[in-house]
Parts: sequence; structure tokens; C-alpha cells
Amino acid sequence: MKAKKSLGQNFLQDINVAHRIVDSISPLPTDTVVEIGPGKGILTRILADKVKKLICIELDDLLSKQLQSNFDAVSNVTVINDDALSIDISQIITSATEYKMIGNLPYNVASPIIRRYLKFTHKPSLITVMLQKEVADVITAKPGKMGYLSVEFQSECSAQKLFTVGPSVFRPAPKVNSTVISLTPHDQVFIKEHPGSRFLEMVRDGFSSPRKQIHNCLENRIAISKDTIELALNSANINSKSRPQALSLCDWARLYTSFYEMGVKF
Ligand code: SAM
Repeated sequence: MKAKKSLGQNFLQDINVAHRIVDSISPLPTDTVVEIGPGKGILTRILADKVKKLICIELDDLLSKQLQSNFDAVSNVTVINDDALSIDISQIITSATEYKMIGNLPYNVASPIIRRYLKFTHKPSLITVMLQKEVADVITAKPGKMGYLSVEFQSECSAQKLFTVGPSVFRPAPKVNSTVISLTPHDQVFIKEHPGSRFLEMVRDGFSSPRKQIHNCLENRIAISKDTIELALNSANINSKSRPQALSLCDWARLYTSFYEMGVKF
């Protein structure tokens, strides 16, 4: 069967890498795990022996049928032929059941998939996924190298880079390196939004010209005076000459509140 590029089908061949990915979620015999994009089942086979319940969501009809027949006799594995970007988790897992999420994600939709699961009311307790290295770098970046995506994801979870593998462990080989990351969703809302003002809108404005200083980025985007912007940065204890990528999540949170207290909404 020919791999479908449109579905990001690069199948992992290296069993040692597969074991490392599975070990990264520390699977327990009491665990419920959701696997996104099981493909030909290299992670599925390892996981099935280790966890209580494994729910696999695969968009490809043919792969899904193959997996269903391969795991027909394995009572703790359920294969669902559906789109991980539209499936409603509450229909497959009760709100009382804690679950972990794992996947060697299709690279073209990796960020939207992670974003979706982080937004569910019933979120996974832990997410371990492999994705394109460059995207993993941004999601897990520290102040100094942060981008919009870093702030967006890290306001929902703590993010850690685990390990990187080259194209040769897949067939067909992708053109890029791949990195496994671990995400732990925050127990509580990290940024409490103020009425009528969206935190991420401000962050987007702040990253409008990443090479410029933060005051310039904001001046380009919001219709308020330079003085007001300086005042907000000052009261948030941020040097107005900093580049946006140098700001930490806490800096962005303080800036958002400073603006709100000065009557500026995003
Ligand atoms: N887990 C397998 C492995 O490691 O070899 C396959 C990984 S491959 C990179 C991505 C898999 O995700 C493919 O099987 C593809 O068909 C599936 N897929 C692509 N888009 C999907 C979506 N929106 N929802 C669920 N599965 C999807």
C-alpha cells in the first residue's frame, strides 16, 4: 500500500525508537491511552501489552481496517476510523476517566491536533508526541527563543523536549528531523483572561515584527500612544527595548494585565 503524503504518512521502522516513545508516557496497567494516527501499529503493538485500555484514532480507512482486523482479538484495543481534528473526546472517554495521549503525528496537522486536545474540557493528563523538529523547538522554547506558538502552547501546558531522530528511521523518509516532546497540561488556567480582551491577540501583536523591539511591535499594531505603551511595559517590569522572543510567559501575562488596567483591550 502506497503511503499517502496528504495524510503525513511516514511510518516509523525503528523498534527501539518506538519503545523510547512509549516509555516516555510511563505506561501503567491502569492507564487509558489515546493514540493518534496509529498507522501500521508500531506503537500500538507495544502499548497494547502495557496499558488497560488503548483507543486508536486513524483517519485512513484502509489502515484503520487493517488495524481493526490485526487487533480484533485484543480486547483492550479499540480502533476508531475518524479524524482526530473533529472527534469529540467526550463521546469516547467518560469525564471520570483520566487518559494519556500519544502519537507519531502527521506533521502537516500536528499543531492543530495538539491545540485541540489542550482545549478540551477533559484534557489528557500527559501528551507525548513526535513532530517536526522545528515545530517542537518552537513549542518547547525558553525565553530568548520564544515565538507566538511557544506562548500559546506554554500557557496551556508545560513543554519538554525529549529526543530527536533523523529521517532514516521512517519509511518513506521525511525531509526533516523529528522530535519527541512531552506536554503536561496545567491543572489550573494559567492566564486568566479579562472580560473583552484576548491574551493571545496581544501576544500576536507583540510578535508582529519579531526582529524589532517590543515597543515597536506594539506601536505598529495598536492604536494607542507610544507613552501608554511605555507605561504598560514599565508597570509590567519589561524593558521596552527587549525583543519579543526574550519575554517569558509571566512577562506576557503581566503586560496583558497592565494594559487591561490602563483600559487597553485586545
Ligand atoms: N504511528 C504510525 C507510526 O509511527 O508509524 C504512523 C505515523 S504517521 C506519521 C501519521 C498517521 O496519522 C498516519 O497513519 C495517518 O494516516 C494518520 N493521520 C493523518 N491525519 C490524521 C487525522 N487527522 N486524524 C487521525 N489520523 C490521522
